[in-house]
Amino acid sequence: LQNSLLITGASQLLTLRGRGPRRGKALSNLGIVKDGALLVRDGLIAAVGPRAKIEALPEAKTAEKMDLVGRVVLPGFVDSHTHLIHAASRAEEYELKIAGASYEEIARKGGGILNSVKKLRAATSEELEKRALTALKQFAACGTTTVEAKSGYGLSVESELKILFLHSELQGKQPLEIVSTFLGAHVVPEEFRARGAERYISVVLEPLLREVGKSRLAEFCDVFCDRGAFTLAQTRQILEEGKRHGLTPRVHAEQLTRTGATQLAAKLGAASCDHLEQVNTSDIAVLAKSNTVATLLPGCDFHLGLKQFAPARKLIEAGAIVALATDYNPGTSPTLSMPMILSLACTQLRMTPAQAITAATINAAYALRREKRIGSLEVGKLADLAVFEVADYREIPYYFGVNTCWMTMKRGVVVHAANKTTIQPA
Ligand SMILES: [Zn+2]
Repeated sequence: LQNSLLITGASQLLTLRGRGPRRGKALSNLGIVKDGALLVRDGLIAAVGPRAKIEALPEAKTAEKMDLVGRVVLPGFVDSHTHLIHAASRAEEYELKIAGASYEEIARKGGGILNSVKKLRAATSEELEKRALTALKQFAACGTTTVEAKSGYGLSVESELKILFLHSELQGKQPLEIVSTFLGAHVVPEEFRARGAERYISVVLEPLLREVGKSRLAEFCDVFCDRGAFTLAQTRQILEEGKRHGLTPRVHAEQLTRTGATQLAAKLGAASCDHLEQVNTSDIAVLAKSNTVATLLPGCDFHLGLKQFAPARKLIEAGAIVALATDYNPGTSPTLSMPMILSLACTQLRMTPAQAITAATINAAYALRREKRIGSLEVGKLADLAVFEVADYREIPYYFGVNTCWMTMKRGVVVHAANKTTIQPA
């Protein structure tokens, strides 16, 4: 029985070796092997290194062969922040934003997240699943192999559980790994606005978190802590109750205003705090000392036309674990392209291409607490990889708005091929 695949011909093989998340200068070290090769067996990486060494292995002689003819290979991207399940785009709000309406003005008029909630509640599970499956194919086509997915457009017991159930259904219906996060505390839904946030929070705390914990439909609990969403005290209450149900916290923090959510996240041992456009120096210092990942979402600022991006360089210099994600969602970041996020990270956050790649692979894997299985190309890890039609990794973010991903592999299986006739899958 032959289950081995020998991959050769990588002009640069970006291993990201040396497990665990990276801080400071280590973000720049991609562990590049020139003319590298990989041996894949049963979905795992069996060997990795210089071509001559890997080709000399007895197993390599009988393995199936794949020649990349000078392309670049790196670990599949880990997109650690998405709102995968939603019913429709919000293209109608796009024009309002361009005309000058702010995100919050649109939200006050019933647009924004509540607009998506209305659409999601009206959609069937089949419709939602179909849209998500289409999106997941596009994620794969951009080199992404693991996708975190948040609920949060249901905001009722029934609709939130419907979304979380879809996350687990999707796991079995397509090849990418879905990491499920409960975001029942996204905003207060319309029907609770007159009654007050506390009444809705009691729904999140009691029937919802109890059910999510019991059913294990989510691993993480997230809260949108901001003006127009939830206060710091409410955020703490929800995340602490989530922890009691076995859910690891993560937070939407300091996006529109500084609330103190970052320091709360660190205190609670959150896996990540995401956005961070408004962090101050004391927040940065706290993050630098913590294991809470600073996940930056430049697609959001780009789409909203905002000028203030998160202080990526300061975070890296201070020693925080910086990650990048798409924040794929219909209102503020309608992209599922990690290469586009890398381009924005380079031009807007002033990260180098190497730092951006580290942030989108091993550090993002750590943000999902999966750094031992994915995020780097090392023996024993999943054979999750992305091959780009470039000879130098810096060209991945350099070419912006075009997709140079040539092939994506998940657990050793080709899940995207730009040119099917030239790729011989395992
Ligand atoms: Zn988000």
